[in-house]
Amino acid sequence: MSLDSIQDLGPAQLLDRDLRAARPQTILARAIDRYGDSLALVSSFGAESAVLLHMVAQIKPDLPVLFLDTGMLFGQTLDYRQQLAARLGLTNVRDLRPQFQDLATTDPKADLWKTNTDACCHIRKVLPLDRAIGGYEAWITGRKRFHGGDRLRLAVVEETDGKIKFNPLANWGKEELDAYALAHDLPPHPLVEFGYPSVGCWPCTQPADEGEDVRAGRWAGSDKTECGIHLTRADGGAAGDVGADI
Ligand code: SF4
Repeated sequence: MSLDSIQDLGPAQLLDRDLRAARPQTILARAIDRYGDSLALVSSFGAESAVLLHMVAQIKPDLPVLFLDTGMLFGQTLDYRQQLAARLGLTNVRDLRPQFQDLATTDPKADLWKTNTDACCHIRKVLPLDRAIGGYEAWITGRKRFHGGDRLRLAVVEETDGKIKFNPLANWGKEELDAYALAHDLPPHPLVEFGYPSVGCWPCTQPADEGEDVRAGRWAGSDKTECGIHLTRADGGAAGDVGADI
């Protein structure tokens, strides 16, 4: 790449150029060093979340960890969120919940997921995260390329709506995740042993069959593959994005 081309790159592209082959811990350390108190991690406390949470706990256990409690999560996920945070020594996990007003006007019977999953994700995930993330310049996600779909082209560092997003595990596959979890004796999400390789809200998550994509059980039987929290808001903010660990 020529000097002129490099000068045309934005901050996210420059960081991605530096970090695209780096270890996840190196990416995390750079993110924390560069953005300090203006950085947060968004975690679902899902099937693979323990790896990234453990890495963060080793570097900065008081990093804000934003957890989207949609009101529709499995009880096992809520228990896991409490137990894993305590075990790893994470001291700053923040539960983000939908606004009462949004639920009262848009989903008063808590059954919107039956008729409009995009709208349901919007009030239960997108809006609560938007309210919380406004105070940060950058955030960290747990997305990985091996999850397929649009995630296949996931950058290690990207920019959306003026915020830098770090994806430290973008390059990692299932083997590396499993090896790390084993080496550090990390407890799996309790639903993994029941065939859930990816865990979201209970109405929209099913077990996946052997050989299926990791996220095959999410919104199974519909075209929806992502919740919408990564969609550029100028595009509408409620559907079709490049995913999250959510
Ligand atoms: S995953 Fe399903 S239940 Fe959860 S917010 Fe989205 S549509 Fe609603």
